[in-house]
Amino acid sequence: MTQLPAADSAPAFCTGCGQSSASCPGCGRDFDPPRYCSACGRWMGVTVTPSGWTARCKEHGEQHSA
Ligand SMILES: [Zn+2]
Ligand SMILES: [Zn+2]
Repeated sequence: MTQLPAADSAPAFCTGCGQSSASCPGCGRDFDPPRYCSACGRWMGVTVTPSGWTARCKEHGEQHSA
């Protein structure tokens, strides 16, 4: 049996479409800014900057590109 580990760091929601990670394993590309919060699936406001991007969730605050 192969089973994915339920790590705390695993996103609960797809950042590309906002579905639960059980429904979508992730359709966004690594270098694209997330459109939905991986923790709650809410749509996030994304600001693209010259050095990357900033995404803001109402519940979870800002995320920045690495
Ligand atoms: Zn998706
Ligand atoms: Zn959130």
